[in-house]
Amino acid sequence: PERAAQVRDLITDVPDFPLPGILFRDITPLLADGPALADVVEAFAGVADGVGSVDVVAGMEARGFLLGAPLATRLGVGFLPLRKAGKLPPPTERVEYELEYGSAAIELRAGTLTPGARVLLVDDVLATGGTAQAAARLVEQCGGVVAGLAFLLELVALGGRDKLRDRTVDTLLRVE
Ligand code: 5GP
Repeated sequence: PERAAQVRDLITDVPDFPLPGILFRDITPLLADGPALADVVEAFAGVADGVGSVDVVAGMEARGFLLGAPLATRLGVGFLPLRKAGKLPPPTERVEYELEYGSAAIELRAGTLTPGARVLLVDDVLATGGTAQAAARLVEQCGGVVAGLAFLLELVALGGRDKLRDRTVDTLLRVE
């Protein structure tokens, strides 16, 4: 609990970023702190234990890469980057999803996900849940099984959990 409080204190609130009225939670100081980063990876490993076997970790661009790749190494499994549209060379699998204004798409390199593989999805923040829902759909579109979704921080008031209600969701920290 004391360690958890230290991790929490390293997440910095930044008002009016990236737009006026948005309170951004910045995990950069946490990433810069060796013991805190190790604690987070270890906590995610505990989540992985709780969802049964995990064959591969998938992370959402970009901070999901920073937490997911060390977790994959810790678990001794591979890592799949779920990238914003246009970053990966073809062929890719793609899922489009709605944003508050407009739409976005995420992609996975075709052939990198073994059909039937159990995937643990990782990201830093669960906000509205739109990104995570699209990521889960992308994994399933590629023939994978979503074993669970793990986040460092849940912004509870934004209701992301409702969008993922049929899925196993674990969040290490929560704020209203
Ligand atoms: P959602 O799709 O759940 O609304 O937004 C989650 C995505 O946006 C995640 O990929 C997350 O990295 C990013 N995100 C949204 N709000 C924040 C925030 O306050 N801090 C950080 N670090 N990422 C955020």
